[in-house]
Amino acid sequence: MSDLAHPLLGSDLHTHTDFSDGHDPLDRVVAAAESAGLHTLVLTDHVRADTRYLPEYVAAVRAARNGTRVHLVCGVEAKIMDTEGRIDLPDDLTGIDHIALADHRFPLPDGPAHPDDVRARLDSDTLTPAEALDHLLTATTRAVARIPAGRTAHLAHLFSVLPKAGLDETALDGHLLAPLARACREHDVVVELNEKWRCPAPRTAALLARAGVHLAAGSDAHRAEAVGVFPWVAEALTETERRCAA
Ligand SMILES: [Zn+2]
Ligand SMILES: [Zn+2]
Repeated sequence: MSDLAHPLLGSDLHTHTDFSDGHDPLDRVVAAAESAGLHTLVLTDHVRADTRYLPEYVAAVRAARNGTRVHLVCGVEAKIMDTEGRIDLPDDLTGIDHIALADHRFPLPDGPAHPDDVRARLDSDTLTPAEALDHLLTATTRAVARIPAGRTAHLAHLFSVLPKAGLDETALDGHLLAPLARACREHDVVVELNEKWRCPAPRTAALLARAGVHLAAGSDAHRAEAVGVFPWVAEALTETERRCAA
C-alpha cells in the first residue's frame, strides 16, 4: 500500500456538536474538519422522537456552509427500536439529509432493551445467543428499509451493542449477515468503521464488503479534536482489504 491516507479517510460520517452531547459548538467542529483535511463532514447529532432542536440545527449547518470549503452534510443519529426496525426519529425531518442508525439499545420484539437486561435474559436462559443475534440482525435489516425517503444513511458503530450484552461478534458469518448486506446494497446504506467503539471488526467488515456493502469512516467525535482522526479505522481498513483480497 502507498503511504497516502486511504481515500475513505477524507470523510467523517459521524460527529457530534453541542446541539446534542458533543462538547464543542458547530463552528469548532467544522474548523477541526478543515484542520484534519477532510473534504466531507457529516454532522450526526443525537435525536429521539421528541427532539425539538432540529430547526435551529438545520439553520446553523446551512449558515456554516458559507464559511468553509468542507462539504457539510446535515444528519442525525437515531437508535433502532425493535425487531420491526422502527427508528427513534422525530416526525419532521425537514432539512435533514442523512440518518445514522445506531444500536444504542438492544432491539428486541418488545422494544429497545438495555444490554444489561439482555445479558440477564441470556444468563437465565430466557433468551439464547442465537435468538439475540437474530433479533439484532432482523431489527437492523428492517431499519435499513425504513430510512425516510430522500435521505442517505449509514449504520453507526454496527454491533457495538454485542459485547455490552456479553455476545460475540465472531458468531456472525456470511450466511447470517446476508440479509443485512442485501438490504444495505438495495438501499445504498453504508457501514461505518467506528473509531470510538472500534467496530465492526475487520473480519465482519470484510464479510460485508465481500457481499457488496460499502464501508466508510466515522470518528464518533464528541470533541472537535477527534474529528477526522482515524488511527484504528486506518488499520482496520487495511486489515479488511487484506482479508477481502485473500
Ligand atoms: Zn452512537
Ligand atoms: Zn454518535
